Amino acid sequence: MQSSHIGIIGAGIVGLSTALSLQKAGYKVTLIDKEAPGMGASFGNAGLFADYARLPFAKFAMMCKMPGMLLDKSSPLSMQSSYIPSLMPYGWGFFKACFPAKYAKGKVALRALQEHTRACDRELLELAGAADLVKAEGCLGLFATEEGFATAQAGDLQERREQGVNLEFLNAGQVRELEPDLAGFHAGGVFYPDTRFTVSPVELSRRYARHFAENGGVILLDEVKGIKPGNDDVEVQLSDRSNRYSQVVICTGVASKDLLAPLGIKVPLVSERGYHLTLDIGDKALTRPVGWLDKAVFLTPMADGVRLAGTAEFASADAPLNPQRAEAMLEHAKVMLGANPGIKSTWVGSRPSTPDSLPVIGRVEQHPRVSVAFGHGHLGLTFGAVTGKLITETIQGQETSVDLSPFSVARFN
Ligand SMILES: Cc1cc2nc3c(=O)[nH]c(=O)nc-3n(C[C@H](O)[C@H](O)[C@H](O)COP(=O)(O)OP(=O)(O)OC[C@H]3O[C@@H](n4cnc5c(N)ncnc54)[C@H](O)[C@@H]3O)c2cc1C
Repeated sequence: MQSSHIGIIGAGIVGLSTALSLQKAGYKVTLIDKEAPGMGASFGNAGLFADYARLPFAKFAMMCKMPGMLLDKSSPLSMQSSYIPSLMPYGWGFFKACFPAKYAKGKVALRALQEHTRACDRELLELAGAADLVKAEGCLGLFATEEGFATAQAGDLQERREQGVNLEFLNAGQVRELEPDLAGFHAGGVFYPDTRFTVSPVELSRRYARHFAENGGVILLDEVKGIKPGNDDVEVQLSDRSNRYSQVVICTGVASKDLLAPLGIKVPLVSERGYHLTLDIGDKALTRPVGWLDKAVFLTPMADGVRLAGTAEFASADAPLNPQRAEAMLEHAKVMLGANPGIKSTWVGSRPSTPDSLPVIGRVEQHPRVSVAFGHGHLGLTFGAVTGKLITETIQGQETSVDLSPFSVARFN
């Protein structure tokens, strides 16, 4: 057992993965969350361990499309007008990240993380007895038109192939063989055979939390009000007392910005809200996640129904759910299924998004007893386990398996 006691703030998939990894390395670990484990963004994701995701979003071509998308009510992109002032630093960072040299560096950084994801996931899934929650059926990304598919083949899909992603192009008939219950709304698409998905993101978090607690980990249900790093330890202020830890890791998703601000650290992190609807698709069935890429929605077969997930709504994390966003997504699902599914539940949550699409992972230079692991945007499930490993290596003082400089919080200075 290491003598250090590590406090981890935030029990989403990133905090839980970090807790398991540090515990396995012999540290005494306390995990603090204001809610039960896995109830933040990690509750509502599309469930994909997206091995193919290696391209940053920021590109000038994407930036040019944005104004039109924002005006189109049926597009996946929307913005709450009162949130616009909070978006300014993000927008500037996004613009800077569009330059080709920055984009190329982002690709290298994402690929470096991806090279470790599978092994790291397997280790945690086996450790926590959660492997049964993950299926290896690949995933489909479909296009409505031949033209759209051809553009993607020459663009993003070609870039992914060059990055070593295993992918196959399928025509509409080949898609039908894989997913016979889908409607013929598409002209074919891409199949990623190596992609895995979980049938229950929340149960995955719960299993991680259970293993952690059963092996001596402490879970505190409390809200962290502030952090005071000292020379010998870090004081964590809770609702009615303070605890001290040798080191602290901030894994509070979209709330991380507010915890860091009093320490003099500014991060252009934004709340990029996503929605999901749990659907009852009756007699129909899906075997794997299916994305309609023109509309940026996914249908994932989960334990409690088919999860329709998507949308990028830049809005404050606590704004009420916008029913129009959910309805627009439902219209897309009806086209995909050629049927009118029942709705079991609707959910909204905030992806913690950075302008350059890279998470923030590593030690805070000014406060060496504080480390950070947040900002995973669209890929927190995918990168949770590797993040835990990298934070553990950082705390152990080892050379990290991945160069952490592209993920440093200092990159925003
Ligand atoms: C619709 C949708 C679909 C998605 N699909 C995918 C996908 O298919 N694959 C993928 O890889 N990713 C996906 N994502 C992204 C992924 O869900 C997130 O990146 C990930 O959940 C972020 O995890 P986290 O642990 O950083 O944050 P969270 O899960 O939000 O956890 C942060 C935790 O910190 C706690 N907290 C915050 N402030 C405090 C405080 N002051 N005191 C105590 N506790 C605090 C919160 O209660 C919360 O539990 C999707 C996201 C959405 C919204």
